[in-house]
Amino acid sequence: MDFAFSDEERAFDAEVAQFLADEHTREEAAEVFAPHREADAQLADTSARKAFLRRLAERGWLGMSWPREYGGADQAGMYEYLLNERLARAGAPLIGKGVGIIGKTLIRHGSEELRRRFLPAILAGTIDFALGYSEPDAGSDLASLSLRARRAPGGWRLDGQKRFSTSAHFADWYWVAARTDPDAPKHEGITLFLIPLSAPGLTVLEQKTMGDERTNEVFFDDVFVPDDAVVGEVDNGWRYVTEAIDYERFTIYTVGMLESKMERILAWARTATVHGRPAYEDPAVRAGIAELATDLEAARMLTLRVIDTASRGEVPSTEASMCKLTLTRLHQKMADWMLDRCGPTVVLRSGDPGAQDHGFWEHSYRFTVLETIGGGASEIQKNILARRALGLPVR
Ligand SMILES: Cc1cc2nc3c(=O)[nH]c(=O)nc-3n(C[C@H](O)[C@H](O)[C@H](O)COP(=O)(O)OP(=O)(O)OC[C@H]3O[C@@H](n4cnc5c(N)ncnc54)[C@H](O)[C@@H]3O)c2cc1C
Repeated sequence: MDFAFSDEERAFDAEVAQFLADEHTREEAAEVFAPHREADAQLADTSARKAFLRRLAERGWLGMSWPREYGGADQAGMYEYLLNERLARAGAPLIGKGVGIIGKTLIRHGSEELRRRFLPAILAGTIDFALGYSEPDAGSDLASLSLRARRAPGGWRLDGQKRFSTSAHFADWYWVAARTDPDAPKHEGITLFLIPLSAPGLTVLEQKTMGDERTNEVFFDDVFVPDDAVVGEVDNGWRYVTEAIDYERFTIYTVGMLESKMERILAWARTATVHGRPAYEDPAVRAGIAELATDLEAARMLTLRVIDTASRGEVPSTEASMCKLTLTRLHQKMADWMLDRCGPTVVLRSGDPGAQDHGFWEHSYRFTVLETIGGGASEIQKNILARRALGLPVR
């Protein structure tokens, strides 16, 4: 058993570190690097961010693990992992839904036409996507979705509502699951579509969350979608959606974000005082940090298992659930621990002159709740594990 990175992997990691150090010297660096940002989803739609993604693309770092025939480099998923984790640790934009979710699903199931249309733009870093799964009556039980797609000449007409469509207010394309056959059993009769967010009949309205992250409700009023915008086979969308959600669980939730938080916690312990003495001397502080570090190592190992599964050409499913559950739980635990330890100024919000660490932990405390819900709630991850990993019968 060898947990060490190879020489090539270490050299690539160092190259990314150097690239990021150079990027930090750019004038617009403050718009690209936001170490206080909790998640990639909080990104603003700035030209600096888009330019940064294009520079990643120019280096061939978007879609490294994709097959060569689709413009990738056929490299082991480990390289994508190293890149994404470095980006997360630096508070930079991640490689994104296009590379990690949409592209991978199109490669497996999309038509040649869709691949030709979307894969080059994803690799060039010039296209943003929003995911349209959740609805008012379909969240954890996603197969209950009811956004209706009816046959029309040359395509489909869509009516209904999505909610929690993060990025829909600035993305170019919308990856939407709709019901094409209402009479079929609920896991059948679902079709996946790619729709431009500028399509007539689409209305995007802001939903504000407790973590300050913007997400959106999207209303469909007789939106026309041509036949060639169907991903894979009509009525077979459930299969592609569940696969794409497995990809999402490890594309979006990184261990790098937790590592940078651990560094903050250690910096606090080295400089703060507790009851008039250095925090690092307090046995409770030492024990608590040691526990967080142990959890962090477990999270890192679970992430590597996911990458290992993906590298073998399999879709990480139970691994991705364990990983998402562990990462998001630890994220919450870190914020909770800091709120318990740091005294009253830690609960003041950013902008208050007395706020500790510019309100970082107060915000983290609110934001990390969202992560345990988005991408499939923690309870659902546990259900998946009970069924798929442990083989416990479902009633
Ligand atoms: C910040 C944020 C961003 C999001 N972004 C997107 C996005 O971009 N695209 C998108 O489509 N969706 C998105 N979502 C939606 C997200 O996937 C859903 O919120 C999630 O799947 C839960 O669905 P729900 O909100 O309808 O809650 P419900 O399904 O109503 O669940 C409510 C509670 O009951 C629990 N529960 C439900 N069923 C079971 C069960 N069988 N066993 C045990 N417990 C259960 C849940 O865990 C949860 O705690 C986002 C959500 C958030 C918070």
